[in-house]
Amino acid sequence: MRLGEQLKEAEESGADWFHVDVMDGHFVPNISIGPPVIRSLRAATSRPLDVHLMITDPDRYLQAFREAGADVITVHQETCPDLRRTLGRIHELGAKAGISIKPGTPASVLDGMMPFADLVLIMTVNPGFGGQAFIPGMIPKIEAVRAMIRASKRAVHLEVDGGIDRTTAGAVVAAGADVLVAGTAVFRARSIPQAVRELRDAAREHRGGTA
Ligand code: ZN
Repeated sequence: MRLGEQLKEAEESGADWFHVDVMDGHFVPNISIGPPVIRSLRAATSRPLDVHLMITDPDRYLQAFREAGADVITVHQETCPDLRRTLGRIHELGAKAGISIKPGTPASVLDGMMPFADLVLIMTVNPGFGGQAFIPGMIPKIEAVRAMIRASKRAVHLEVDGGIDRTTAGAVVAAGADVLVAGTAVFRARSIPQAVRELRDAAREHRGGTA
């Protein structure tokens, strides 16, 4: 019930997408929600649902998450033995396909993948738990991926996830990010509308030609 209320509040405050972290207790230590919760979120908002699968063997669950209402499905490069095939499968299901990499994974694993993806998600904390501090060493990786996207001449989103708040938003946008995921900074704030506004203001100040 409370989640529905908070979604509406964030929506009215101008949040563009809702990002959902799905964790399996294997790829990351935590366990979070599955398709049933995505389905209830789908019923609560018409905004795009951006589903981040931090799970091993994501191929087995793509259809279930798509049927539950995911608009964007992002898988981890580290979990996909045949990444191009997985991205193709997401497209066949009618969703946008994203690739995520953990902080320890170099941008070079994304070489040649831009034609097959709609989004790249750079983890700016080690995945598993909310409320962690942003890793500043991720800025050069964001810049490197933005350069790959530019070279591909495709409209691939560059998303950052982990420790994003009004103090880090400017730097990631300046480095080339155009989708900012904020969990703690928005949902733990005293005022959701104010938190969304502050993030947008911080991002706008640093926006170059990319976002
Ligand atoms: Zn995420």
